[in-house]
Amino acid sequence: MDGPPIDELHFEDAPNVRTAVPGPRSKERIDRQARIESSAVAYPKRIPIAIEEGKGATVRDADGNTYIDMFAGIGVLNVGHANPYVLDAVEAQTRKVVHTVDFPTEARLDLIEKLDEIAPGDLQGNNRVVFGGPTGSDAIEATIKLAKYNTGGDGLIAFRGAYHGASSGALSLTAGRKYKREYTPLLADVTHLPYPYPVRQDLSPEDAVDRALSNVRELVEDPYGGLANPAGIWVEPIQGEGGVVVPPEGFLPGLREIADDNDLPLIVDEIQTGFGRTGRWYASEWEDVTPDIVPMAKAIGGIGLPLSATMYHEDLDTWEAGGHVGTYRGNAPAMRAGLRAIEYIQDHGLLAHARDVGAYIRDRLRAVAEDVPQLRQVRGRGLFVGAEFVDERGRPDKAAVNAVQQYCYEHGVLVWSAGRDGEVLRLIPPLVITRELAETALDVVTNAIREVCSSRSGSGTV
Ligand code: PMP
Repeated sequence: MDGPPIDELHFEDAPNVRTAVPGPRSKERIDRQARIESSAVAYPKRIPIAIEEGKGATVRDADGNTYIDMFAGIGVLNVGHANPYVLDAVEAQTRKVVHTVDFPTEARLDLIEKLDEIAPGDLQGNNRVVFGGPTGSDAIEATIKLAKYNTGGDGLIAFRGAYHGASSGALSLTAGRKYKREYTPLLADVTHLPYPYPVRQDLSPEDAVDRALSNVRELVEDPYGGLANPAGIWVEPIQGEGGVVVPPEGFLPGLREIADDNDLPLIVDEIQTGFGRTGRWYASEWEDVTPDIVPMAKAIGGIGLPLSATMYHEDLDTWEAGGHVGTYRGNAPAMRAGLRAIEYIQDHGLLAHARDVGAYIRDRLRAVAEDVPQLRQVRGRGLFVGAEFVDERGRPDKAAVNAVQQYCYEHGVLVWSAGRDGEVLRLIPPLVITRELAETALDVVTNAIREVCSSRSGSGTV
């Protein structure tokens, strides 16, 4: 087995919060940042921490406090911070060559071959890969261009609750009003249809799927459906920013069928769900659906190096040289990192581990939900976990999630949120988190939920 076992990857003392948080050094850095950096900076406004060092599923702040990282740089660090097996190859590659635009390097070719080995469904052996800029948004831009180029259409079909990125094309597909309100008009012909979300829609899982699929079918097939020239269907196999919304069984296969019936590409956005996050390489595998086009980013860069890619069926490889351009078309150390990260996940059985630890985490949360009604639903697959909170009148409760996040931070666990109303606690730790660390983290998270929910219902503030 290459690389150290997962239990050797972390700071041994985590969690250990010795100062009031933020400690003086974190506070000084955050104040300095606030003076000189853009007001667009967001993350430290939610958790005021200056991260000094990361190891596995743990981080240390500038004051020496250590935390269990259940947030992983927002779903990026699947093999953990500074994974030594990955780091060694990155260091060696960095000394050799870093930037080659798209001239071939071994790092590049090895990664492409590895991506083929783990490709979802029938894409194995039938795909091409394009690298563009290093963000997920750039991969989404590539998917829009590829779909338009191949279909001649320009109508994009997406879903309510979707997040696909923040550049203009990707933002057109993103559903969240707060991200786009000031920047319209974006791409002209985008239609957002309901994503099946039974608990929010107050529908049975079957009805939620029927509603979602019949909307797509009507839009595409009804001569008066309204969308002139559809180019494709963009979907997250589990909505991430939208609240870790797992669609009920049948939704993805149903979309596959509609796409096939109408000669449209199905674009499955695996940017947040890919590379083992859900306990499979790609979330679409849970329903045996083969996408036509798969944008990927985040964890593909191994230890957080910026890299994105788009894999697509070889039949769509019709564009010419320069079909998707940019100075950065894959960075050799990031490609080495991606390759090594996949190897590490394979060698250490981390897909099964993610399924086991994820199930454990959901069980712990569900046990709390039994007597805390504000915890309305616990859901997810693998280490992609969401817990949705409502107030006593059943309305989305963002304040509860924020209070849970604050409690966890003060007690040495970093967690994040999601959801259309910010009402979902999102746990997305590195896949290398050990069962013991997950147990410790869940002791803190479940205490946080109990304390926050009992004080909120007792105080009459809800
Ligand atoms: N698609 C999905 C599903 C995402 O979760 C994200 C990022 N949260 C993106 C696209 C955009 O990726 P990036 O932030 O790297 O541009």
